[in-house]
Amino acid sequence: MIARVTLDLTLRKEFDYLIPPEFEEEVKVGTRVKVPFATRKVLGSVTALAEESPHTNLRPILKVIGRQALLTLNVLQLARWMADYYCCPLEIALKSVLPDAVRKEQKGWKERLFVRVVPWQATMPKVTKRQQQVLDIITARKEMPLQELLQLADTTSGTVRRLEDAGLLTIAAQIAERDPYANEVILPTQALALNPDQKVAVEQIIKAMDSPGEKPASFLLHGVTGSGKTEVYLQAIAYALEQGKGAIVLVPEISLTPQTVERFKARFTSGPQKTLVAVLHSHLSAGERHDEWHKIRQGRARIVIGARSAVFAPVDPVGLIIVDEEHEHSYKQEEAPRYHARDVAVMRGQIEGAVVVLGSATPSLESFYNAQKGKYGLLQMLSRADDKNLPLIRVVDMRNEARKGKGIPIFSEVLRNAITSRLEKKEQVMLFLNRRGYASSLQCPKCGYVAGCPNCSIALTYHRRIEKLCCHICGHSDNAPAVCPEPTCRNPAIRHAGLGTERVEETLFKLFPQARVERMDSDALKRKDDLPRILGDFRVGKIDVLVGTQMIAKGLHFPNVTLVGIIYADLSLHLPDFRSGERTFQLLTQVSGRAGRGDVEGEVIVQSFTPFHSAIQFARRHDFAGFYEQELEFREQLKYPPVSRAAMLTVRGRNEDKVKLSIEHLKRELEKELADWKDLIIAGPAPSPLLRAETYYRYQIMLRTRQMAKLSQHLANIPDGVKLPEDILLTVDIDPVNLF
Ligand code: ADP
Ligand code: ZN
Repeated sequence: MIARVTLDLTLRKEFDYLIPPEFEEEVKVGTRVKVPFATRKVLGSVTALAEESPHTNLRPILKVIGRQALLTLNVLQLARWMADYYCCPLEIALKSVLPDAVRKEQKGWKERLFVRVVPWQATMPKVTKRQQQVLDIITARKEMPLQELLQLADTTSGTVRRLEDAGLLTIAAQIAERDPYANEVILPTQALALNPDQKVAVEQIIKAMDSPGEKPASFLLHGVTGSGKTEVYLQAIAYALEQGKGAIVLVPEISLTPQTVERFKARFTSGPQKTLVAVLHSHLSAGERHDEWHKIRQGRARIVIGARSAVFAPVDPVGLIIVDEEHEHSYKQEEAPRYHARDVAVMRGQIEGAVVVLGSATPSLESFYNAQKGKYGLLQMLSRADDKNLPLIRVVDMRNEARKGKGIPIFSEVLRNAITSRLEKKEQVMLFLNRRGYASSLQCPKCGYVAGCPNCSIALTYHRRIEKLCCHICGHSDNAPAVCPEPTCRNPAIRHAGLGTERVEETLFKLFPQARVERMDSDALKRKDDLPRILGDFRVGKIDVLVGTQMIAKGLHFPNVTLVGIIYADLSLHLPDFRSGERTFQLLTQVSGRAGRGDVEGEVIVQSFTPFHSAIQFARRHDFAGFYEQELEFREQLKYPPVSRAAMLTVRGRNEDKVKLSIEHLKRELEKELADWKDLIIAGPAPSPLLRAETYYRYQIMLRTRQMAKLSQHLANIPDGVKLPEDILLTVDIDPVNLF
């Protein structure tokens, strides 16, 4: 037999190798192998088997990695689809599918020496007092890692070895699983009685699981915040387990809090459907990731909950795939392969015959459109599970506030009073602003100087705590100057403009000195335990006001939060992106959903300079349908997604003129090749909204069509067909979500 191997090097082809007799049993499609390549030894995946090869002098496979094929056939098929659709080499697709910690051979299971007592014997040999102390410790625990015993007994391994020689205990290597949640105690939960909406949703999902192959097998679960979507997921998963199938649950990275994970673990820690729940996210160590992944591959964990890349988890067979907060942009990977985990989930569902549930309080236009067209089944839960009201949302016109006093205040009178009154009642407040740092720029009012990034076309953000100016694109940081750095100006009255979460926090300290305030954004979360600490403190009431970026916008469930304040609702509204209205509507709705999840009715105060913008007004009225209808009309007119599909071609280089010439050349070539394509729109070239990033100038062309799979085939050929200078980089992004 011949093995066709896709190497970990990006060579865009498979290579044939002989399978030596000693590996004949083990080598299957999906097996990881080490093979000779030129003068090197290279890792790769067997992606096909063949009887014969057109090549002669084949070399044999050197080594098989792992006891099991790492790729299932279905996941391999998914990787092939991804390579085609997202225009990337199969090698790159496979890299995403298998995490590094699994693909590379070094990270094996961690073996540790364990000490175990040998059961009681008739004739107890004589031991010294010191040895007896060691024996007492281990007898009390029956078994423990050698290292821990040495520490606890303050002894040497020589002493323990002598006890082993005397037959009183054994020392043996044993796999020690790295469990990221090892020290948690989780109380089991029972299924809740379902309200009618939830019941219908679960029934529909179960029905689809019972009749594989029938359409539609994907659902959009549109449930307002607090409508009990998680309970629906849990009951659907329980059914999948009953059928002997597993489940994948995707949540956005920032929602992957211990609180979320616990809700899933709690339901399946006992009972007939008992299983391990594996967790995959980017904060695991390589060792932890290796162990979690193999728990799934071995079938010991039949549920996996994770961020984007968990869509590739080796659950086999899969009965159900859930994508929670399906509208989240973080499901899109911003490097090759530029896949969208929601769309990959739907494709995986088709390949595996699994049911896919996309859940959201604010569905993406794409998913709602698909539901309207009948591609997905639509399940709606439009009231809160426990009949609590959605919070009352008030919009404050900040233009009036600005007229009242000097300058633009951070807190309107309405918001200030509301915070005061909530604090008096010992209730909690969340304040949201989608920008971290202290000030959005440092400006000189005299000469107009603005501190900019040397690498990017963007102003530097001032961070007061560390006294630095930082670029939020490339990470560049500078000391903040005390005077205007323009040699001819040197104005000492240089000042901060705009605001970020740090400044909101500081102003709170001044206005409400008695309140306990904490900030939650990526600056405040430096260490691994910062997030659980802040969330824990907020939960037990040690924090009165939590200020944060979109990190606090979703998934969090704190019943004592009765007031949510949105400092500037306009920040995401005026970006040059056709989704800016949708984004703003989603953010406002999600943040608002944090209020009033307990017994006291919730209140939301939205501060805005464009209070009558439709995204703000529809959010105020909790009117998704209204927003959808209006937004779709605008997309129809301009043939933007979801009415069509988009592909973004970006050309980058350090020399702006060369970038311009290259993209113009590219456009001409595309026009030639795609001349008789009817529904194709080629827009651009135009400078990217962020013209320069990380020292590279960027220009873009946006293509729009309904037939993206067909267009992808053409775009995949550009690297061969269109000659671009060597120092010019081209990226192809299918279904882009980030237009910058
Ligand atoms: P969502 O994910 O839709 O925002 P959650 O699943 O977090 O909503 O549910 C919100 C709250 O309602 C949770 O405290 C949950 O325990 C509760 N809940 C869900 N379903 C029911 C039910 N059928 N009966 C009573 N409470 C429920
Ligand atoms: Zn920069």
